[in-house]
Amino acid sequence: MLDIPSSILLIDGQWCDADSGRTYEVINPAKEDTLLSVAYGGQAETRRALTAAARAMPAWRNENAWGRAAVLKRVADQLRDEAPTIARVLTLEQGKPLAEANGEVLHAADEFEWFAEEAKRAYGDVIPQAKNQKRHFTLKHPVGVVGAIVPWNFPIALMARKLAPALAAGCTVVAKPASQTPLATAQLFRVMLEAGVPPGVANLIVGDASEVAAEFLANRICRKVSFTGSTEVGKQLMRGCADQLKRVGLELGGHAPFIIFPDADPEMIAQLAVAGKFRNNGQVCIAPSRFYVHRDTASEFTEAVVAQTQQLKLGDGLEEGVEIGPMFEDRAMQHAVNLVEDAKRCGARILTGGQRSAQFERGYFFEPTVLDRVPDTARLLVDEPFAPVMPVIEFENLDQVIEAANDTPYGLAAYVFTNDVSTTWRMAEGLEAGIIGINDPVPTAVQCPFGGMKESGQGRELGREGLAAYLETKYVSVGIKHE
Ligand code: NAP
Repeated sequence: MLDIPSSILLIDGQWCDADSGRTYEVINPAKEDTLLSVAYGGQAETRRALTAAARAMPAWRNENAWGRAAVLKRVADQLRDEAPTIARVLTLEQGKPLAEANGEVLHAADEFEWFAEEAKRAYGDVIPQAKNQKRHFTLKHPVGVVGAIVPWNFPIALMARKLAPALAAGCTVVAKPASQTPLATAQLFRVMLEAGVPPGVANLIVGDASEVAAEFLANRICRKVSFTGSTEVGKQLMRGCADQLKRVGLELGGHAPFIIFPDADPEMIAQLAVAGKFRNNGQVCIAPSRFYVHRDTASEFTEAVVAQTQQLKLGDGLEEGVEIGPMFEDRAMQHAVNLVEDAKRCGARILTGGQRSAQFERGYFFEPTVLDRVPDTARLLVDEPFAPVMPVIEFENLDQVIEAANDTPYGLAAYVFTNDVSTTWRMAEGLEAGIIGINDPVPTAVQCPFGGMKESGQGRELGREGLAAYLETKYVSVGIKHE
Protein backbone atom coordinates (compact mmCIF):
# COMPACT_ATOMS: atom_id res chain seq x y z
CA MET A 1 0.00 0.00 0.00
CA LEU A 2 1.16 3.52 -0.78
CA ASP A 3 1.78 5.81 2.15
CA ILE A 4 -0.34 8.77 0.98
CA PRO A 5 -3.77 9.99 2.17
CA SER A 6 -6.87 8.22 0.86
CA SER A 7 -9.26 11.17 1.44
CA ILE A 8 -8.59 12.66 -1.97
CA LEU A 9 -11.60 14.84 -2.63
CA LEU A 10 -10.57 18.47 -2.26
CA ILE A 11 -13.47 20.89 -1.71
CA ASP A 12 -12.93 24.48 -0.61
CA GLY A 13 -9.39 23.73 0.55
CA GLN A 14 -10.42 20.71 2.70
CA TRP A 15 -9.46 17.11 1.92
CA CYS A 16 -12.51 14.88 2.45
CA ASP A 17 -14.14 11.49 1.90
CA ALA A 18 -17.27 10.82 -0.13
CA ASP A 19 -20.52 11.73 1.67
CA SER A 20 -21.60 8.09 1.38
CA GLY A 21 -18.23 6.81 2.64
CA ARG A 22 -17.83 4.98 -0.68
CA THR A 23 -14.29 3.97 -1.71
CA TYR A 24 -12.64 2.05 -4.55
CA GLU A 25 -9.25 0.48 -5.18
CA VAL A 26 -6.51 1.98 -7.34
CA ILE A 27 -4.54 -0.82 -9.04
CA ASN A 28 -0.86 -1.09 -9.98
CA PRO A 29 -0.98 -2.33 -13.62
CA ALA A 30 2.53 -3.86 -13.36
CA LYS A 31 1.52 -6.15 -10.49
CA GLU A 32 -2.31 -6.24 -10.62
CA ASP A 33 -2.43 -5.51 -6.88
CA THR A 34 -4.07 -2.70 -4.91
CA LEU A 35 -2.08 0.49 -4.33
CA LEU A 36 -4.64 2.30 -2.21
CA SER A 37 -8.34 2.38 -1.45
CA VAL A 38 -9.57 5.95 -1.98
CA ALA A 39 -12.69 8.09 -1.63
CA TYR A 40 -15.18 7.98 -4.52
CA GLY A 41 -17.69 10.83 -4.65
CA GLY A 42 -20.46 11.88 -7.00
CA GLN A 43 -23.06 14.52 -7.73
CA ALA A 44 -23.55 16.01 -4.23
CA GLU A 45 -19.81 16.56 -3.73
CA THR A 46 -19.54 18.08 -7.22
CA ARG A 47 -22.36 20.51 -6.39
CA ARG A 48 -20.60 21.61 -3.19
CA ALA A 49 -17.33 22.04 -5.06
CA LEU A 50 -19.00 24.20 -7.75
CA THR A 51 -20.52 26.39 -5.03
CA ALA A 52 -17.09 26.75 -3.37
CA ALA A 53 -15.53 27.61 -6.73
CA ALA A 54 -18.15 30.31 -7.39
CA ARG A 55 -17.54 31.79 -3.91
CA ALA A 56 -13.78 31.84 -4.44
CA MET A 57 -13.85 33.40 -7.89
CA PRO A 58 -14.31 37.16 -7.17
CA ALA A 59 -11.29 37.33 -4.83
CA TRP A 60 -9.14 35.23 -7.15
CA ARG A 61 -10.04 37.41 -10.12
CA ASN A 62 -9.26 40.53 -8.06
CA GLU A 63 -5.79 39.19 -7.25
CA ASN A 64 -5.04 40.67 -10.71
CA ALA A 65 -2.88 39.04 -13.35
CA TRP A 66 0.47 39.67 -11.63
CA GLY A 67 -0.73 38.22 -8.32
CA ARG A 68 -2.19 35.12 -9.99
CA ALA A 69 1.01 34.71 -12.04
CA ALA A 70 3.14 34.72 -8.89
CA VAL A 71 1.09 31.87 -7.39
CA LEU A 72 1.21 29.81 -10.60
CA LYS A 73 4.97 30.31 -10.86
CA ARG A 74 5.33 28.94 -7.30
CA VAL A 75 3.31 25.87 -8.34
CA ALA A 76 5.74 25.35 -11.26
CA ASP A 77 8.76 25.63 -8.96
CA GLN A 78 7.37 23.24 -6.37
CA LEU A 79 6.39 20.69 -9.04
CA ARG A 80 9.98 20.73 -10.29
CA ASP A 81 11.28 20.20 -6.74
CA GLU A 82 8.90 17.32 -6.11
CA ALA A 83 9.03 15.75 -9.59
CA PRO A 84 10.85 12.53 -8.55
CA THR A 85 8.36 11.77 -5.76
CA ILE A 86 5.24 12.56 -7.78
CA ALA A 87 6.63 10.66 -10.78
CA ARG A 88 6.96 7.52 -8.66
CA VAL A 89 3.26 7.68 -7.73
CA LEU A 90 2.39 8.24 -11.39
CA THR A 91 4.38 5.19 -12.52
CA LEU A 92 2.78 3.04 -9.84
CA GLU A 93 -0.79 3.87 -10.84
CA GLN A 94 -0.38 4.36 -14.63
CA GLY A 95 2.48 2.00 -15.56
CA LYS A 96 4.71 4.31 -17.65
CA PRO A 97 8.49 4.11 -17.06
CA LEU A 98 9.79 6.41 -14.32
CA ALA A 99 11.78 8.61 -16.74
CA GLU A 100 8.60 9.26 -18.76
CA ALA A 101 6.63 9.98 -15.58
CA ASN A 102 9.29 12.42 -14.44
CA GLY A 103 9.20 14.10 -17.86
CA GLU A 104 5.43 14.42 -17.56
CA VAL A 105 5.63 16.20 -14.17
CA LEU A 106 8.29 18.57 -15.54
CA HIS A 107 6.10 19.27 -18.57
CA ALA A 108 3.22 20.11 -16.20
CA ALA A 109 5.57 22.53 -14.40
CA ASP A 110 6.37 24.17 -17.75
CA GLU A 111 2.63 24.51 -18.40
CA PHE A 112 2.15 26.36 -15.10
CA GLU A 113 5.10 28.61 -15.86
CA TRP A 114 3.95 29.38 -19.41
CA PHE A 115 0.44 30.35 -18.27
CA ALA A 116 1.82 32.34 -15.32
CA GLU A 117 3.57 34.46 -17.95
CA GLU A 118 0.60 34.54 -20.33
CA ALA A 119 -1.70 35.78 -17.54
CA LYS A 120 0.02 39.16 -17.91
CA ARG A 121 -0.75 39.32 -21.62
CA ALA A 122 -4.56 38.97 -21.64
CA TYR A 123 -4.75 42.11 -23.78
CA GLY A 124 -7.83 43.79 -25.19
CA ASP A 125 -7.79 46.09 -28.24
CA VAL A 126 -8.51 49.73 -28.90
CA ILE A 127 -10.44 49.81 -32.18
CA PRO A 128 -10.37 52.89 -34.44
CA GLN A 129 -13.72 54.71 -34.56
CA ALA A 130 -15.67 55.61 -37.69
CA LYS A 131 -17.48 58.48 -35.86
CA ASN A 132 -15.50 61.02 -33.85
CA GLN A 133 -17.97 61.12 -30.95
CA LYS A 134 -17.32 57.43 -30.16
CA ARG A 135 -14.46 55.30 -28.85
CA HIS A 136 -14.34 51.47 -28.94
CA PHE A 137 -12.32 48.94 -26.99
CA THR A 138 -12.38 45.30 -25.91
CA LEU A 139 -11.74 43.80 -22.47
CA LYS A 140 -10.98 40.20 -21.55
CA HIS A 141 -13.23 38.60 -18.94
CA PRO A 142 -12.82 35.14 -17.34
CA VAL A 143 -15.48 32.70 -18.59
CA GLY A 144 -16.41 31.70 -15.01
CA VAL A 145 -16.30 28.44 -13.07
CA VAL A 146 -14.87 25.60 -15.20
CA GLY A 147 -15.67 21.88 -14.99
CA ALA A 148 -12.62 19.90 -16.16
CA ILE A 149 -12.40 16.17 -16.95
CA VAL A 150 -9.21 14.36 -18.00
CA PRO A 151 -8.17 10.77 -18.88
CA TRP A 152 -5.54 8.42 -17.44
CA ASN A 153 -2.80 8.47 -20.10
CA PHE A 154 -1.16 11.76 -19.00
CA PRO A 155 -3.01 12.49 -15.74
CA ILE A 156 -0.75 15.31 -14.56
CA ALA A 157 0.13 17.06 -17.83
CA LEU A 158 -3.44 17.05 -19.16
CA MET A 159 -4.83 18.32 -15.85
CA ALA A 160 -2.22 21.11 -15.71
CA ARG A 161 -3.11 22.05 -19.31
CA LYS A 162 -6.58 23.01 -18.05
CA LEU A 163 -5.88 24.25 -14.51
CA ALA A 164 -3.02 26.60 -15.38
CA PRO A 165 -4.76 28.64 -18.13
CA ALA A 166 -8.11 28.67 -16.30
CA LEU A 167 -6.49 30.03 -13.12
CA ALA A 168 -4.31 32.43 -15.11
CA ALA A 169 -7.46 33.86 -16.71
CA GLY A 170 -9.10 34.40 -13.30
CA CYS A 171 -11.47 31.40 -13.47
CA THR A 172 -11.90 28.80 -10.73
CA VAL A 173 -12.12 25.06 -11.38
CA VAL A 174 -13.74 21.80 -10.31
CA ALA A 175 -11.73 18.94 -11.82
CA LYS A 176 -12.22 15.20 -12.22
CA PRO A 177 -9.32 12.83 -13.00
CA ALA A 178 -9.78 9.36 -14.52
CA SER A 179 -10.77 6.79 -11.90
CA GLN A 180 -7.69 4.66 -12.60
CA THR A 181 -5.20 7.50 -11.97
CA PRO A 182 -6.27 9.86 -9.15
CA LEU A 183 -3.20 9.59 -6.92
CA ALA A 184 -0.55 11.70 -8.68
CA THR A 185 -3.33 14.19 -9.46
CA ALA A 186 -4.08 14.52 -5.74
CA GLN A 187 -0.38 15.28 -5.22
CA LEU A 188 -0.63 18.04 -7.85
CA PHE A 189 -3.56 19.60 -5.95
CA ARG A 190 -1.62 19.36 -2.67
CA VAL A 191 1.26 21.23 -4.33
CA MET A 192 -1.17 23.90 -5.56
CA LEU A 193 -2.58 24.44 -2.05
CA GLU A 194 0.92 24.62 -0.53
CA ALA A 195 2.07 27.06 -3.22
CA GLY A 196 -0.74 29.45 -2.30
CA VAL A 197 -3.71 28.68 -4.53
CA PRO A 198 -6.55 29.85 -2.24
CA PRO A 199 -9.22 27.43 -0.94
CA GLY A 200 -12.03 26.88 -3.44
CA VAL A 201 -10.04 28.07 -6.47
CA ALA A 202 -9.07 24.53 -7.53
CA ASN A 203 -11.28 21.65 -6.33
CA LEU A 204 -10.82 17.94 -7.02
CA ILE A 205 -13.64 15.40 -7.30
CA VAL A 206 -12.64 11.75 -7.70
CA GLY A 207 -15.84 9.89 -8.43
CA ASP A 208 -18.55 8.60 -10.71
CA ALA A 209 -18.05 10.18 -14.15
CA SER A 210 -21.71 10.29 -15.12
CA GLU A 211 -22.69 11.97 -11.80
CA VAL A 212 -19.91 14.55 -11.98
CA ALA A 213 -20.74 15.31 -15.62
CA ALA A 214 -24.48 15.52 -14.87
CA GLU A 215 -23.81 18.20 -12.25
CA PHE A 216 -21.45 20.14 -14.55
CA LEU A 217 -24.15 20.16 -17.23
CA ALA A 218 -27.17 20.94 -15.00
CA ASN A 219 -25.62 23.49 -12.65
CA ARG A 220 -25.65 27.06 -13.98
CA ILE A 221 -22.57 27.89 -11.87
CA CYS A 222 -20.46 25.83 -14.30
CA ARG A 223 -19.89 28.09 -17.33
CA LYS A 224 -17.46 25.95 -19.29
CA VAL A 225 -16.77 22.22 -19.62
CA SER A 226 -13.23 21.39 -20.66
CA PHE A 227 -12.86 17.73 -21.56
CA THR A 228 -9.99 15.52 -22.70
CA GLY A 229 -10.93 11.95 -23.55
CA SER A 230 -12.72 9.82 -26.09
CA THR A 231 -14.60 11.27 -29.05
CA GLU A 232 -17.73 9.40 -27.99
CA VAL A 233 -17.90 11.02 -24.51
CA GLY A 234 -16.86 14.38 -26.00
CA LYS A 235 -19.89 14.32 -28.28
CA GLN A 236 -22.21 13.50 -25.35
CA LEU A 237 -20.82 16.43 -23.36
CA MET A 238 -21.15 18.82 -26.31
CA ARG A 239 -24.82 17.86 -26.65
CA GLY A 240 -25.26 18.33 -22.89
CA CYS A 241 -23.67 21.79 -23.00
CA ALA A 242 -26.16 22.96 -25.64
CA ASP A 243 -29.06 23.47 -23.21
CA GLN A 244 -27.36 26.29 -21.30
CA LEU A 245 -24.96 27.17 -24.16
CA LYS A 246 -22.03 26.44 -21.87
CA ARG A 247 -18.63 26.99 -23.43
CA VAL A 248 -17.00 23.69 -24.32
CA GLY A 249 -13.41 22.68 -25.03
CA LEU A 250 -12.83 19.19 -26.43
CA GLU A 251 -9.51 17.37 -26.83
CA LEU A 252 -10.48 13.98 -28.26
CA GLY A 253 -9.17 10.93 -30.06
CA GLY A 254 -6.78 10.71 -32.98
CA HIS A 255 -5.42 8.31 -35.62
CA ALA A 256 -2.23 9.99 -36.76
CA PRO A 257 -0.55 9.14 -40.09
CA PHE A 258 3.27 8.93 -40.08
CA ILE A 259 4.39 9.43 -43.68
CA ILE A 260 7.91 8.66 -44.90
CA PHE A 261 8.94 9.96 -48.34
CA PRO A 262 11.74 8.21 -50.27
CA ASP A 263 14.22 11.10 -49.81
CA ALA A 264 14.23 10.56 -46.00
CA ASP A 265 16.70 8.11 -44.48
CA PRO A 266 14.54 5.04 -43.69
CA GLU A 267 16.82 3.66 -40.97
CA MET A 268 17.06 6.95 -39.10
CA ILE A 269 13.29 7.48 -39.37
CA ALA A 270 12.75 3.93 -38.09
CA GLN A 271 14.32 4.98 -34.76
CA LEU A 272 11.94 7.94 -34.49
CA ALA A 273 8.99 5.75 -35.47
CA VAL A 274 9.74 3.18 -32.76
CA ALA A 275 10.23 5.87 -30.09
CA GLY A 276 7.05 7.73 -31.16
CA LYS A 277 4.85 4.64 -31.50
CA PHE A 278 5.72 2.78 -28.31
CA ARG A 279 6.00 5.75 -25.91
CA ASN A 280 3.43 5.16 -23.14
CA ASN A 281 2.52 1.91 -24.98
CA GLY A 282 0.90 3.81 -27.84
CA GLN A 283 -1.66 5.17 -25.34
CA VAL A 284 -1.13 8.72 -26.57
CA CYS A 285 -3.75 10.80 -28.42
CA ILE A 286 -1.14 12.07 -30.91
CA ALA A 287 0.63 8.68 -31.23
CA PRO A 288 1.43 7.79 -34.82
CA SER A 289 -0.84 4.90 -35.72
CA ARG A 290 -0.79 4.49 -39.54
CA PHE A 291 2.74 4.23 -40.97
CA TYR A 292 2.74 5.09 -44.68
CA VAL A 293 6.13 4.34 -46.27
CA HIS A 294 7.02 4.98 -49.91
CA ARG A 295 7.33 1.62 -51.67
CA ASP A 296 10.96 2.36 -52.70
CA THR A 297 12.11 2.37 -49.06
CA ALA A 298 9.42 0.25 -47.40
CA SER A 299 11.48 -2.90 -46.96
CA GLU A 300 14.49 -1.06 -45.47
CA PHE A 301 12.21 0.83 -43.05
CA THR A 302 10.29 -2.29 -42.06
CA GLU A 303 13.41 -4.36 -41.38
CA ALA A 304 14.84 -1.57 -39.22
CA VAL A 305 11.65 -1.05 -37.15
CA VAL A 306 11.27 -4.77 -36.53
CA ALA A 307 14.89 -5.09 -35.35
CA GLN A 308 14.60 -2.07 -33.05
CA THR A 309 11.19 -3.08 -31.66
CA GLN A 310 12.62 -6.46 -30.66
CA GLN A 311 15.28 -4.67 -28.59
CA LEU A 312 12.78 -2.75 -26.41
CA LYS A 313 12.91 -3.67 -22.74
CA LEU A 314 9.51 -4.39 -21.16
CA GLY A 315 8.96 -4.40 -17.42
CA ASP A 316 7.82 -2.65 -14.26
CA GLY A 317 8.24 1.08 -14.91
CA LEU A 318 10.08 1.50 -11.59
CA GLU A 319 12.93 -0.78 -12.75
CA GLU A 320 16.10 0.72 -14.17
CA GLY A 321 16.39 0.52 -17.96
CA VAL A 322 12.75 -0.38 -18.63
CA GLU A 323 11.52 1.34 -21.81
CA ILE A 324 7.96 -0.03 -22.00
CA GLY A 325 5.71 -0.54 -18.98
CA PRO A 326 2.42 -2.42 -18.74
CA MET A 327 -0.72 -1.17 -20.44
CA PHE A 328 -2.82 0.82 -17.98
CA GLU A 329 -5.53 -1.81 -17.44
CA ASP A 330 -6.66 -5.27 -18.47
CA ARG A 331 -9.36 -3.85 -20.78
CA ALA A 332 -6.74 -1.89 -22.76
CA MET A 333 -4.58 -5.01 -23.16
CA GLN A 334 -7.58 -7.06 -24.36
CA HIS A 335 -8.36 -4.28 -26.83
CA ALA A 336 -4.81 -4.60 -28.26
CA VAL A 337 -5.20 -8.40 -28.51
CA ASN A 338 -8.53 -7.99 -30.34
CA LEU A 339 -7.14 -5.41 -32.80
CA VAL A 340 -4.27 -7.70 -33.76
CA GLU A 341 -6.53 -10.76 -34.08
CA ASP A 342 -8.91 -8.79 -36.30
CA ALA A 343 -6.01 -7.57 -38.50
CA LYS A 344 -4.74 -11.16 -38.84
CA ARG A 345 -8.20 -12.34 -39.89
CA CYS A 346 -8.22 -9.58 -42.53
CA GLY A 347 -4.91 -10.87 -43.96
CA ALA A 348 -2.26 -8.82 -42.09
CA ARG A 349 1.17 -10.35 -41.44
CA ILE A 350 2.66 -10.09 -37.92
CA LEU A 351 6.36 -9.20 -38.15
CA THR A 352 7.02 -9.08 -34.41
CA GLY A 353 4.97 -9.21 -31.19
CA GLY A 354 1.22 -9.62 -31.46
CA GLN A 355 0.21 -10.96 -28.07
CA ARG A 356 0.26 -10.60 -24.29
CA SER A 357 3.85 -10.99 -23.17
CA ALA A 358 4.66 -14.44 -21.81
CA GLN A 359 7.64 -13.01 -19.85
CA PHE A 360 5.44 -11.90 -16.93
CA GLU A 361 3.10 -13.83 -14.68
CA ARG A 362 1.29 -10.68 -13.60
CA GLY A 363 0.75 -7.25 -15.11
CA TYR A 364 -0.86 -6.02 -18.32
CA PHE A 365 2.16 -6.43 -20.59
CA PHE A 366 1.57 -6.56 -24.34
CA GLU A 367 4.40 -7.16 -26.81
CA PRO A 368 5.23 -4.15 -28.98
CA THR A 369 3.90 -5.21 -32.36
CA VAL A 370 4.71 -4.49 -36.01
CA LEU A 371 2.59 -5.78 -38.88
CA ASP A 372 2.22 -5.17 -42.61
CA ARG A 373 -0.16 -6.12 -45.45
CA VAL A 374 -2.97 -4.58 -43.39
CA PRO A 375 -6.09 -3.99 -45.52
CA ASP A 376 -8.03 -0.69 -45.18
CA THR A 377 -10.96 -2.56 -43.67
CA ALA A 378 -9.02 -3.78 -40.58
CA ARG A 379 -10.26 -2.13 -37.36
CA LEU A 380 -6.67 -1.13 -36.64
CA LEU A 381 -6.83 1.34 -39.53
CA VAL A 382 -10.39 2.51 -38.86
CA ASP A 383 -10.81 2.89 -35.06
CA GLU A 384 -8.40 4.81 -32.85
CA PRO A 385 -6.04 1.96 -31.75
CA PHE A 386 -4.52 3.44 -28.51
CA ALA A 387 -2.22 0.40 -28.38
CA PRO A 388 1.45 -0.52 -29.03
CA VAL A 389 0.73 -1.73 -32.55
CA MET A 390 2.44 -0.39 -35.70
CA PRO A 391 0.82 -1.14 -39.07
CA VAL A 392 3.15 -0.47 -42.05
CA ILE A 393 1.41 0.48 -45.31
CA GLU A 394 3.10 1.22 -48.67
CA PHE A 395 2.24 4.22 -50.86
CA GLU A 396 3.25 5.40 -54.33
CA ASN A 397 2.79 9.16 -54.58
CA LEU A 398 2.02 12.34 -52.64
CA ASP A 399 -1.60 12.83 -53.76
CA GLN A 400 -2.46 9.24 -52.94
CA VAL A 401 -0.95 9.41 -49.46
CA ILE A 402 -2.69 12.71 -48.60
CA GLU A 403 -6.00 11.18 -49.60
CA ALA A 404 -5.35 8.04 -47.52
CA ALA A 405 -4.09 10.05 -44.51
CA ASN A 406 -7.20 12.28 -44.53
CA ASP A 407 -9.62 9.39 -45.00
CA THR A 408 -10.66 9.27 -41.33
CA PRO A 409 -13.07 11.22 -39.10
CA TYR A 410 -10.07 12.10 -36.89
CA GLY A 411 -7.76 15.08 -37.44
CA LEU A 412 -5.50 15.48 -34.41
CA ALA A 413 -1.87 14.93 -35.43
CA ALA A 414 0.12 13.96 -38.54
CA TYR A 415 3.84 13.34 -39.15
CA VAL A 416 5.83 13.73 -42.36
CA PHE A 417 9.46 12.86 -43.06
CA THR A 418 11.07 14.47 -46.10
CA ASN A 419 13.97 16.76 -47.02
CA ASP A 420 12.13 18.28 -49.97
CA VAL A 421 10.80 21.82 -49.51
CA SER A 422 7.92 21.42 -51.98
CA THR A 423 6.77 18.19 -50.32
CA THR A 424 6.97 19.94 -46.93
CA TRP A 425 4.63 22.74 -48.03
CA ARG A 426 2.21 20.52 -49.92
CA MET A 427 1.87 18.17 -46.96
CA ALA A 428 1.50 20.99 -44.40
CA GLU A 429 -1.27 22.50 -46.54
CA GLY A 430 -2.95 19.24 -47.56
CA LEU A 431 -3.15 17.27 -44.33
CA GLU A 432 -6.28 17.62 -42.19
CA ALA A 433 -4.71 17.67 -38.72
CA GLY A 434 -4.44 20.28 -35.98
CA ILE A 435 -0.81 19.34 -35.20
CA ILE A 436 1.71 18.50 -37.94
CA GLY A 437 5.26 17.35 -37.19
CA ILE A 438 7.56 17.63 -40.21
CA ASN A 439 10.77 15.76 -39.42
CA ASP A 440 9.58 16.17 -35.82
CA PRO A 441 8.03 13.16 -34.05
CA VAL A 442 7.44 15.11 -30.78
CA PRO A 443 5.82 18.43 -31.76
CA THR A 444 4.10 19.26 -28.43
CA ALA A 445 5.44 22.48 -26.86
CA VAL A 446 3.79 24.59 -24.15
CA GLN A 447 4.04 27.76 -26.27
CA CYS A 448 2.35 26.19 -29.34
CA PRO A 449 -1.36 25.44 -29.88
CA PHE A 450 -2.48 21.84 -29.32
CA GLY A 451 -5.79 20.42 -30.57
CA GLY A 452 -7.66 18.70 -33.33
CA MET A 453 -9.70 19.21 -36.50
CA LYS A 454 -12.80 17.19 -37.47
CA GLU A 455 -13.93 14.72 -34.76
CA SER A 456 -10.68 15.15 -32.81
CA GLY A 457 -11.98 18.18 -30.98
CA GLN A 458 -13.02 21.81 -30.63
CA GLY A 459 -10.70 24.61 -29.57
CA ARG A 460 -7.02 24.54 -28.67
CA GLU A 461 -4.98 24.13 -25.49
CA LEU A 462 -1.46 25.49 -24.77
CA GLY A 463 0.05 28.46 -26.64
CA ARG A 464 -1.69 31.84 -26.67
CA GLU A 465 -4.88 30.03 -27.68
CA GLY A 466 -4.80 28.07 -24.41
CA LEU A 467 -5.43 31.21 -22.36
CA ALA A 468 -7.97 32.61 -24.84
CA ALA A 469 -10.07 29.48 -24.28
CA TYR A 470 -10.85 30.72 -20.73
CA LEU A 471 -11.56 34.35 -21.66
CA GLU A 472 -14.63 36.07 -23.09
CA THR A 473 -14.16 39.17 -25.25
CA LYS A 474 -16.28 42.11 -24.03
CA TYR A 475 -16.67 44.96 -26.46
CA VAL A 476 -17.21 48.44 -24.99
CA SER A 477 -18.34 51.45 -26.99
CA VAL A 478 -18.11 54.90 -25.32
CA GLY A 479 -19.78 58.04 -26.52
CA ILE A 480 -17.58 61.11 -25.85
CA LYS A 481 -17.89 64.87 -26.23
CA HIS A 482 -16.14 65.87 -29.39
CA GLU A 483 -15.85 69.64 -30.01
P1 NAP B 1 -12.97 8.34 -21.74
O1 NAP B 1 -13.65 7.04 -21.51
O2 NAP B 1 -13.67 9.37 -22.54
O3 NAP B 1 -12.55 8.87 -20.29
C1 NAP B 1 -11.87 10.07 -20.11
C2 NAP B 1 -12.40 10.79 -18.87
O4 NAP B 1 -13.80 10.98 -19.04
C3 NAP B 1 -12.23 10.01 -17.58
O5 NAP B 1 -12.03 10.93 -16.53
C4 NAP B 1 -13.57 9.32 -17.42
O6 NAP B 1 -13.90 9.05 -16.07
C5 NAP B 1 -14.50 10.39 -17.95
N1 NAP B 1 -15.77 9.89 -18.44
C6 NAP B 1 -16.12 8.63 -18.81
N2 NAP B 1 -17.42 8.59 -19.18
C7 NAP B 1 -17.90 9.85 -19.05
C8 NAP B 1 -19.17 10.45 -19.27
N3 NAP B 1 -20.20 9.76 -19.73
N4 NAP B 1 -19.31 11.77 -19.05
C9 NAP B 1 -18.26 12.50 -18.60
N5 NAP B 1 -17.03 11.98 -18.35
C10 NAP B 1 -16.85 10.67 -18.59
O7 NAP B 1 -11.58 8.16 -22.46
P2 NAP B 1 -10.56 6.98 -22.39
O8 NAP B 1 -10.88 6.06 -23.50
O9 NAP B 1 -10.41 6.42 -21.03
O10 NAP B 1 -9.24 7.85 -22.71
C11 NAP B 1 -8.55 7.81 -23.86
C12 NAP B 1 -9.12 8.79 -24.90
O11 NAP B 1 -8.68 10.12 -24.58
C13 NAP B 1 -8.57 8.50 -26.27
O12 NAP B 1 -9.59 8.63 -27.23
C14 NAP B 1 -7.52 9.58 -26.46
O13 NAP B 1 -7.21 9.90 -27.80
C15 NAP B 1 -8.16 10.72 -25.75
N6 NAP B 1 -7.14 11.73 -25.43
C16 NAP B 1 -7.13 12.91 -26.12
C17 NAP B 1 -6.14 13.86 -25.86
C18 NAP B 1 -6.09 15.17 -26.61
O14 NAP B 1 -5.43 16.09 -26.13
N7 NAP B 1 -6.74 15.30 -27.75
C19 NAP B 1 -5.18 13.60 -24.88
C20 NAP B 1 -5.22 12.38 -24.21
C21 NAP B 1 -6.21 11.46 -24.49
P3 NAP B 1 -13.73 7.56 -15.43
O15 NAP B 1 -12.30 7.23 -15.54
O16 NAP B 1 -14.16 7.77 -14.02
O17 NAP B 1 -14.62 6.67 -16.22
